[in-house]
Amino acid sequence: MMSPMRVVITGGAGFLGSHVCDLLVARGDEVVCVDNLCTGRQENIAHLTGRPGFTFVAQDVSRGLEVAGPVDLVMHLASPASPPEYLRLAIETLEVGSLGTMNTIRLALEKGARYFVASTSEVYGDPLVHPQPETYWGHVNSTGLRSCYDEAKRFAEAVTMAYHRQRGLDVRISRTFNTYGPRMRPDDGRVVTNFIVQALAGRPLTVYGDGTQTRSFCYVDDQVRGLVALADSDYVGPVNIGNPNEFTMLELAQQVLAVTGSASELRFEPLPADDPTQRQPDITLARDVLGWEPRVELAEGLERTIPWLAKELASTARHP
Ligand code: UDP
Repeated sequence: MMSPMRVVITGGAGFLGSHVCDLLVARGDEVVCVDNLCTGRQENIAHLTGRPGFTFVAQDVSRGLEVAGPVDLVMHLASPASPPEYLRLAIETLEVGSLGTMNTIRLALEKGARYFVASTSEVYGDPLVHPQPETYWGHVNSTGLRSCYDEAKRFAEAVTMAYHRQRGLDVRISRTFNTYGPRMRPDDGRVVTNFIVQALAGRPLTVYGDGTQTRSFCYVDDQVRGLVALADSDYVGPVNIGNPNEFTMLELAQQVLAVTGSASELRFEPLPADDPTQRQPDITLARDVLGWEPRVELAEGLERTIPWLAKELASTARHP
């Protein structure tokens, strides 16, 4: 696809969505950002509001979506994404993955636009194949606590491919692995923000289980560059976007303590149900078809994220 385009981004006020808005606006695309602000935040897009080529629409895409004028690309990124939030908003998460996906697909069909849906490494569940290539079908508990997110995203992938096969919709599917960086809410509940906030406050770092479970953490700039490269590409079918460098939660805790210089202790807490024991993207496909790979390693990404969170915490303390 050739920029400039007119792009509708759902979840555009969220953590990933707002960074995608930034990248597209910076390269000259026109962006219609749609968000119901259930986990997204207006502050994430405050710097874009009022700029030519950027519009914000407060709307729950699970209820419907109408956009006037031409649209070249619809990017459906809206969803709660941290485990505590999708557990709190289980029905809303299932709705935005199912009804929201169908409503955004309808918009793309009506406009003759390309359709991009953000899926997740959670479709692999607690994986028995390691690292995970896109060809792995996953190991998922369809009625477990995390199923509201996993199955919503699996449905989103399925309905996207059905519209591609049956109606010729031009589709792209990303599978995002754990991503962190500025604009994650300090109270988001995911491990990177929890550890940083705890370290900065001198409180114990809450390690769930024995901390030997692993994740592979991708810095947000790398992630959004990958998402946009996929949206621009010709590749139909899911593509993993993540950083393959894998860490145990104990190693992550040590890195956070080292970068913050905090003397916080570790506090071990129970492992949540169905918490995947290991996760690492196989990014061979992204390297081959997108020429993309991550550039920012964990220590550097933490160094960029920590000052942002410290500032955020200071401003919340001033304006609670
Ligand atoms: N975790 C942890 N302490 C926390 C939050 C999370 O040890 O304060 C663990 C969690 O059990 C999981 C990993 O960190 O094994 C990643 O959790 P997160 O919620 O960030 O994302 P997930 O990959 O589970 O969706």
